[in-house]
Amino acid sequence: MARAYDEEAGQPAGDVLHEACGITAVYAPGDDVARLVYFGLYALQHRGQESAGIAVGNGRTLDSHREMGLITGVFDEEILGRLRGDVAIGHTRYSTTGSSIVVNAQPFVEDSDLGPFAFGHNGNLTNADELAATLPDNVRLSATSDSEILAKVIARAKGKTFAEKIQVAMRVAEGAYSVVMCTPDAIYAFRDPWGVRPLCIGTYGEAGYMVASESCALATVGAHYLREIAAGEVVAIDANGVRTEHTEIVKTPALCMFEYIYFARPDSVLSGRSIYMARYEMGRALARQHPADADVVMAIPDSAIPGGIGYAAESGLPYVEGLIKNRYIGRTFISPDQNMRSQGVRLKFNPVVENLRGQRVVVVDDSIVRGTTTPRIVKLLRDAGAREVHVRITSPPIIDPCYLGVDMATHKELIAANFTIEEIRVTIGADTLGFLSKEGLLGAVSRERGEMCLGCLTGDYPETYAGPRPLAVTSSEN
Ligand code: SF4
Repeated sequence: MARAYDEEAGQPAGDVLHEACGITAVYAPGDDVARLVYFGLYALQHRGQESAGIAVGNGRTLDSHREMGLITGVFDEEILGRLRGDVAIGHTRYSTTGSSIVVNAQPFVEDSDLGPFAFGHNGNLTNADELAATLPDNVRLSATSDSEILAKVIARAKGKTFAEKIQVAMRVAEGAYSVVMCTPDAIYAFRDPWGVRPLCIGTYGEAGYMVASESCALATVGAHYLREIAAGEVVAIDANGVRTEHTEIVKTPALCMFEYIYFARPDSVLSGRSIYMARYEMGRALARQHPADADVVMAIPDSAIPGGIGYAAESGLPYVEGLIKNRYIGRTFISPDQNMRSQGVRLKFNPVVENLRGQRVVVVDDSIVRGTTTPRIVKLLRDAGAREVHVRITSPPIIDPCYLGVDMATHKELIAANFTIEEIRVTIGADTLGFLSKEGLLGAVSRERGEMCLGCLTGDYPETYAGPRPLAVTSSEN
């Protein structure tokens, strides 16, 4: 999916999906745990660019630092040097509920009858309001996100250990939550009973452990991937070793399909499946289902590139770079004025004219959300001399919003929820248009339908989400 700049609106375009957060935790007494978490977060920056934070436990107390901005802007040598300890967690945030303000930056630090703990959450609770109503009147919420509510529910849950408190909270919390926590001398990691958001664990050094949203964070610091943390599993790591417990809540697994399509980094492995190879196979399946009479294949950088290469391999057409992306555009930057826009200032993509002029081009992208970006890309390619533009999408049409932590669009805004494929083709100005089928997608990721959430692609959500949908995850704050 193109993360585009809306030249007319003078702001980043809304035709994108946004992930909710990246989390990581390290248990490595004697090592510089804050620095390890820093580099882990650096590898997870694609999952959230609004704020970042690290909390460290030194055996007696917790210390933390969190601010708005990218990892590299939030931390410097002085701050990392101050965060000394044996255990640490880190968080990088994109807001799906709650404002993009520093009070919502994580990790939060909470007090409990067992002592303080730091808390970092990836996901979105679907019963946050109900959970908030169960908290005593004297509990003040300082943040405006569902994450703080879950932290406070855990702090007040019954239990002789943090693992017990977490399990009590898991019986009442609904929705998507992959979470890391640390106390002064231990780390905890747990995943909701549906396993919507990813979370994996690996070893670090002789006796250390690391937990992260994606395996690419483990690889970045030289940790060795062990396995995914299972849906409903609670992992505790301290001086006594690793303990794992499973809540007795049995639910149907529902890992988000868009982790494979778009969110996760291509060098990550998710449930034993390489993200790169899954996207490559999506491209191959797409070429079989929707071949094109064309000269070259290109992809929208970056997430669609493996799919584009797969499409080219299966079709026998050459793969070319048709667009060069400026990778340094963040969420806030100076907008070009109207005069610059009318002169065609392009901040996000520039075409490689030599690869496009006179060619019949297949352009592979990973999804179409509102359909505001794709027409501009098609026009950009035609203006660069492409003779024909055949758009191929490595996911089925998005027909329903996400209620599980992905900032997508409302039903009214989703183009595929309101128009036929042929109407979409006309709207985006393509010569032909093809979407990968659900069966082709499941085959590419080597998963069965019952193992994945495909809610936004089918309207059929995991069982807990079939009822009322209390959280409007697309808000003007985002
Ligand atoms: S509805 Fe779509 S984006 Fe949301 S969790 Fe399910 S598959 Fe992922």
